Amino acid sequence: MDEKTRRPALGHKADGSLHNEARSDNSLERGFLRSSTADPFGLLGEPVSADIARVPFYVMAKPAGALCNLACEYCYYTEKKHLYAQTPHHVMSDALLERFTRDYIQAQPTPNVLFTWHGGEALMRPVSFYQKALDLQRKYAEGRHIDNALQTNATLLTDEWAEFLAKNHFLVGVSIDGPQEFHDEYRKSRTGRPSFMQVLRGIRLLQKHGVEWNALAVVNDYNADYPLDFYRFFRDELSGPFLQFTPVVERIEPHSDGRHLASVAGGTHLQLAPFSVSPGQWGDFLCAIFDEWVRRDVGKMFVQLFDATLANWVGVMPGVCTLAETCGHALAMEFQGDVYCCDHFVFPEYKLGNIYERPLVEMLQDERQRQFGLDKREALTRECRECDYLFACHGECPRLRFATDSYGNQRHNYLCRGYKKFFAHVAPYMDRMKKLLQEGRAPAEIMHEV
Ligand code: SF4
Ligand code: SF4
Repeated sequence: MDEKTRRPALGHKADGSLHNEARSDNSLERGFLRSSTADPFGLLGEPVSADIARVPFYVMAKPAGALCNLACEYCYYTEKKHLYAQTPHHVMSDALLERFTRDYIQAQPTPNVLFTWHGGEALMRPVSFYQKALDLQRKYAEGRHIDNALQTNATLLTDEWAEFLAKNHFLVGVSIDGPQEFHDEYRKSRTGRPSFMQVLRGIRLLQKHGVEWNALAVVNDYNADYPLDFYRFFRDELSGPFLQFTPVVERIEPHSDGRHLASVAGGTHLQLAPFSVSPGQWGDFLCAIFDEWVRRDVGKMFVQLFDATLANWVGVMPGVCTLAETCGHALAMEFQGDVYCCDHFVFPEYKLGNIYERPLVEMLQDERQRQFGLDKREALTRECRECDYLFACHGECPRLRFATDSYGNQRHNYLCRGYKKFFAHVAPYMDRMKKLLQEGRAPAEIMHEV
């Protein structure tokens, strides 16, 4: 395995000790698929304004827009097609691919560049599209080291795809929500057919061809009640040591263009989508998995949220934007060049411009984007500012800040109660792992003590 490819911003080495090479120009962390958005250098917590000259930024590219062969019930992205109802073909043109490739590489201040391909379903484009992307990357690289990561539902994978991905060292993120019963609850085809067996087939193909892959699981109102069945499936049945789980929380707000999900800028009393995980479920889910992990899997299973929590505990940059102090370095680009503040903020009010009209760097430096990133810290509620766990949580992701805090202030994180429970529960273990690190010992030693 390429030494440079499997490195969490702060993770456990084979010997169980921790390392943090997030700032090394020579180390490329390809763990972005373990987080909500791209942050392979673990630098999303950096203030945007001061670091533009030296900090890389990421643009999550959508080569097939919101097109997808599945119709998962809680997908926040498929409805983005309504933003482009007037455009007949939702695929990235060769001209845009070339322009984006050139501008993206040239705009990066570091020798390493990571391209991230998302959907919709990224495999709705053929192998030849990605081959073209690689050719263009070579054309414009000018000596830089370039990597690629791709997020997929894995159902369209074939031997040809897996061979291509392996040969070109793609890191692949696979969306899978746990065992069949959980996965098939919400992840279905457009005709309502379950997708689990196809996803499993895809994962086996990746494993057969030696493709690096991570599991990205959505935690919803259903699977959240079965944390250990969920966790053990990934560990014991998929043998997938890299696991990210994302809580799904959406609110319903019908728009005249056909979209029906709300942005955080929507009203504060909107109805929650029924598949949303509740704060209580989220906290219990995290605590239950942590208890199993800390007793037998530290240093063996990479659970992104635990890793990021430990990073904050010891005072280094977490490898996930949601637990960083500020954000704003990870943008999203639609199939026709529109650029948005973040993949979770593809709403008209968060559009920064189009790549044909504005240089990428200019959009990153846009005052709105700068403020978007800083707001994560500056717009905290009083409850957050007084919270014992602010150093670990940072108010979590702004997309979930639509609740009311205990003082009656709006824009508080909806999942706060769950996070508070989790941080309080793990605090003694985190303290202990921090101490082990300070003594130059491996945090994995904690497994002998609990
Ligand atoms: S809003 Fe910020 S914290 Fe949330 S997903 Fe986007 S970049 Fe990450
Ligand atoms: S746990 Fe709650 S109060 Fe504390 S920082 Fe996180 S969101 Fe804010």
